[in-house]
Amino acid sequence: MSPTRDTIFALSSGRPPAAIAVVRISGPHARLSLEALSGRLPQPRQASLARLRDPGSAESLDEALALWFPSPRSETGEDMAELQLHGGRAVVAAVLAALGRLPGFRPAEAGEFTRRAFENGRLDLTAVEGLADLIGAETEAQRRQAYRQLKGLLGDRAETWRGRLIKALALVEAGIDFSDEADVPAELVRPALDIARELHNEIAGALAQAGRGERLRDGLVVAIAGPPNAGKSTLLNRIAKREAAIVSPFAGTTRDVIEVHLDLGGYPVTLLDTAGMRETEDPIEQEGVRRARERAATADLVLWVTEAGRPMTDFPTFSGSSVTGDGPLADRGGLPISGSVAEEPPLWVIKNKIDLIAYQKSEYQFIYDSKFISLSASTGFGIDELLQRLTEYVQQFFGLESGLVTRERHRTQLTVAKLALARALSESCGREELIAEELRLAARALDRLTGKIDVEDVLDVIFRDFCIGK
Ligand code: GDP
Repeated sequence: MSPTRDTIFALSSGRPPAAIAVVRISGPHARLSLEALSGRLPQPRQASLARLRDPGSAESLDEALALWFPSPRSETGEDMAELQLHGGRAVVAAVLAALGRLPGFRPAEAGEFTRRAFENGRLDLTAVEGLADLIGAETEAQRRQAYRQLKGLLGDRAETWRGRLIKALALVEAGIDFSDEADVPAELVRPALDIARELHNEIAGALAQAGRGERLRDGLVVAIAGPPNAGKSTLLNRIAKREAAIVSPFAGTTRDVIEVHLDLGGYPVTLLDTAGMRETEDPIEQEGVRRARERAATADLVLWVTEAGRPMTDFPTFSGSSVTGDGPLADRGGLPISGSVAEEPPLWVIKNKIDLIAYQKSEYQFIYDSKFISLSASTGFGIDELLQRLTEYVQQFFGLESGLVTRERHRTQLTVAKLALARALSESCGREELIAEELRLAARALDRLTGKIDVEDVLDVIFRDFCIGK
């Protein structure tokens, strides 16, 4: 570790005032901060009470808990100190100011502690991403997935894959060395290709689950669509009023699309209200319809809201114009098809305003009919039923196990590795050099995944998500 490195410090807990404020210090002079402010160094990794003074004026600043984590057994791998202060604004400001006056000390930048942990090999890149996701996690399932990523679910797997690749590569390279002897190369290359085949299948298996892991980070998207005045906004508002379900209401409100973030059974769901889809001459409205259609087309599920009792002639195709009759519904039987590869998302028909229907009894039975969900957005009748169905759908969508691949970055590198392995497997005997080259390419992709090489361009993107003090 370079001795000329700055010692960094930051408030790592939330914005004051608060009961307690945690200030962290990392770098070659972290020890000095404790000695200068409290007059002594606590036992490593043991909390001790410390009276903090301004080293310049000797004025008492606060009584705090002080912790000392000597290198390398600290989060960043450097010498680290931690002060748990009373969380008042002036207390925090005075302690940060006193630290800033120490030689070689400066405030930390966003994510800088974690960046040092990465540079010192305490975390690999996938774990850094897991940490960012853990801090951002809003639901139970997101927390679980992020925690596993932090603990090396993907990073460790990639390391094991890499180890096996290197073994295969060594076999092929030995085969090249023996290439004058007729039988030896084939004997060495065959087991290498066996390893490559296993790796190819395992990586392909992880990639097949990729969509789920990535979706869990962002939330499953459910679009509410349908003709104007069917009651879409009323339905969205009704669901949004269920306190338990809401994570952050109306994040990202635009003229055309309103979204609500829900926590359904521990899984994140983004509910979108799209502008009424209809043919219109007004160019601004047309733009709204176009955007709504686009959002609905990429949604994971569409709730098509109609007015109960009206003939349902106007079913959507989101990529183009509406079609009449029961075309799309007949195709899917109106049912959600999980894991379907259909171009358009599954569609549930919501028959709204059933409070207006004279023969309510006969309509009510549709609530238990799988093709339609009848409800009344304005009275709330049937809403619990809808939420229950949605929760089951989301649970089924995500399955029990969380994905290994949670980001596009992971998918890209694993795809590179998989394709290189496939090319290696397609080589016939006697082309050992080409096989070796493909295996090297696959190993490099795994190195990029864990951040062993070529990290420069991805680091800034990843650390942009971090806050100061982390
Ligand atoms: P949107 O254009 O699809 O978003 O429709 P709105 O949510 O703005 O609703 C259109 C009209 O239908 C409003 O006057 C609502 O009060 C009314 N409405 C919505 N849901 C119901 C319902 O379940 N029952 C009744 N009677 N009226 C409803």
